[in-house]
Amino acid sequence: MTQTSTELHHLTVAQLTTQLRERKVSALEAARHFLARAKAHTELGAFLDTNEEVTLAQARAADIRLASGSAGPLAGVPLAHKDIFVTKDFIATAGSKMLEGYRSPFDATVVAKLGDAGVVTLGKLNCDEFAMGSANENSAYGPVKNPWDSTRTPGGSSGGSAAAVAARLTPAATGTDTGGSIRQPASFCGITGIKPTYGRASRYGMVAFASSLDQAGPMARTAQDCALLLSAMCGPDPDRDSTSLDVPAEDFSLSLNASLEGLRIGVPIEFFGEGLSPDVRATVDAALKEFEKLGAKLVPITLPRTQLSIPVYYIIAPAEASSNLSRFDGVKFGHRADKYTDLADMYRQTRAEGFGDEVKRRIMIGAYVLSHGYYDAYYLQAQKIRSMIADDFQQAFKVCDVIAGPVAPTVAWKLGGHGNDPLADYLADIFTLPGSLAGLPGMSLPVGFGAGSMPVGLQLIGKYLQESRLLNVAHRFQQATDWHNARPQGF
Ligand code: GLN
Repeated sequence: MTQTSTELHHLTVAQLTTQLRERKVSALEAARHFLARAKAHTELGAFLDTNEEVTLAQARAADIRLASGSAGPLAGVPLAHKDIFVTKDFIATAGSKMLEGYRSPFDATVVAKLGDAGVVTLGKLNCDEFAMGSANENSAYGPVKNPWDSTRTPGGSSGGSAAAVAARLTPAATGTDTGGSIRQPASFCGITGIKPTYGRASRYGMVAFASSLDQAGPMARTAQDCALLLSAMCGPDPDRDSTSLDVPAEDFSLSLNASLEGLRIGVPIEFFGEGLSPDVRATVDAALKEFEKLGAKLVPITLPRTQLSIPVYYIIAPAEASSNLSRFDGVKFGHRADKYTDLADMYRQTRAEGFGDEVKRRIMIGAYVLSHGYYDAYYLQAQKIRSMIADDFQQAFKVCDVIAGPVAPTVAWKLGGHGNDPLADYLADIFTLPGSLAGLPGMSLPVGFGAGSMPVGLQLIGKYLQESRLLNVAHRFQQATDWHNARPQGF
């Protein structure tokens, strides 16, 4: 073994797969190294569960396959999952007290697929309760700290995933994105993440928040790593997720190097208005200039219903959540109240104790907008505007190949910075929600630093099923720049 273990955590997934294949490092060595790092950095609050025995057994199995030459493409690569994916060897809490200590009898499809590709699971990562949030402060298991500044949020809801990758506690992680939960934490922590087209990755075994929006995706340091991981995560799953698309799995790393000469990058004017803080704007503008240097052309476009995406999303997502979360009744899964007088009281007490404030707020909003008399006024209207938002993108894509803009209006804010004001969190989702509502693929890549020396991400939104184009655009940028190699002090 020529690789010294102190350097292991600086390797990308791509580098690590080569080292593993060439037997310069063993899967066991890699697993031990990252488990030790997770243990040494519990102050971040990123991991909710680890199981050394399981991880090391997976690593040994990977080493056997690597030695025999029959290993999958990601054999021996350590990876941790957002705790919204159910797993049979680790707990699956979805960041909720409702599922404290819950263990699933099966693995989510995405978990199983990555397992088949050979990854070694390091454990489960903290997230907002049922993926509802933008700061990871809605987790029942405490907030996650941003490795770039421990007084700040890592973003949410995949905050544990973003923090763990940025702090090099894992080379890569899974996340889920309903309204921005892969892109925004990736941006806040200076890493790369992609949410594929809705339906690309199976939702089977992802604890459901808003089923028409939820999508899984990878979070890693580079676009190349995301391509490797996404290739393993996608593919049809018709028997278990009826919304999974009948599109074959794809090797996203094949087109990474295509030239950007003549690429038309749409720049939506609505993403650069008043609400965008000047430091983020300057960083995003500089990234756009870099793309021009790489041969791309900037095309001004308009997404006129951008502002409406906030009320539309915050009607549709809670409506779906209120229905999805009805299964947590103290009978089928997880928590049940100790004291109750009768069945109705058992439901009431269980749900009052098991759910946090934000989840309760959304259940109430959802039940309200779906109720007789309000359904037409809110839910139906929101659905209509949702399809107009999707149409706006189709119009825009007539004149551009990809869309670029900020991920969030500011850099990561201070933990507790939004106080008890959920609206402040909701408003910060403005740039990620439109693409989510349209079901389009979107990603975030690090493009520099803004206020407080905090990372800033650039959002790329692509046409349906053009993840490969997004990854190509991001990869070429990363070939020409160094932002993705920056790392927080002490990690
Ligand atoms: N911040 C958004 C919300 O709170 C998005 C969350 C997500 O994508 N899971 O709903």
